[in-house]
Amino acid sequence: MMLMPAKVVGEDKVKKQPSFVKPWLGLKYLFKKPVTIKIPYEKIDPAPKYRGFHTLDWKKCIGCNFCGQICPARAIEMTWIEVDGKMEKRPHPKIDYGRCTFCQFCVDVCPTGALGFIESYILTTTGDEEELQLFDWVPLPPDKFRELQEEYKDWRFPVEKIDFNEETKEVTYYLRNGEIFKFKILGYGLRPPKPPAKPKTQPKKEESQNQSKS
Ligand code: SF4
Ligand code: SF4
Repeated sequence: MMLMPAKVVGEDKVKKQPSFVKPWLGLKYLFKKPVTIKIPYEKIDPAPKYRGFHTLDWKKCIGCNFCGQICPARAIEMTWIEVDGKMEKRPHPKIDYGRCTFCQFCVDVCPTGALGFIESYILTTTGDEEELQLFDWVPLPPDKFRELQEEYKDWRFPVEKIDFNEETKEVTYYLRNGEIFKFKILGYGLRPPKPPAKPKTQPKKEESQNQSKS
């Protein structure tokens, strides 16, 4: 194997002579327009296709879990969802923004184009447990997310609050425009959740024992 000869630039070419005058040349910037962007009074829009929050077309997702397999941060958990009293036939990805690196490998690998993303990228909360729930969601369908982004044009997360009721398993998204988006999470993983176990018929046994005693 041929090695490329390394070319080393002489030290005399890169070493600067100390100067008393040159540092003062920086003063010329005192009279130039500052390049500061005065957030929040000014804004800078992200580049088109900036890798922001995800969107999920719930009807297109076939629950193949390719997105979950490729995710380098293990941020995706397949989730069984019930909408309007009917369980979806396949699980859908739930994304944990506490782990996600926004590499969008999951979007690239999705065979049906169900998983997408939008340029919105701002999500700030306090450390309250209730607010941290915002970082863990089944993404909104793209139309709804884009509609909210068009309305506010500020690149913020489209949901203000997420409620999860442990008992009823109901999830409620309170969207920024006051709308409410509800569904249920019935279970996690690739296998469908088992239906709730029926209560055992012990009382009948007791009844029969009582009868035999009498
Ligand atoms: S963007 Fe990257 S890190 Fe985030 S969920 Fe998708 S694959 Fe995982
Ligand atoms: S979002 Fe795409 S890759 Fe992920 S489970 Fe659904 S269809 Fe498969």
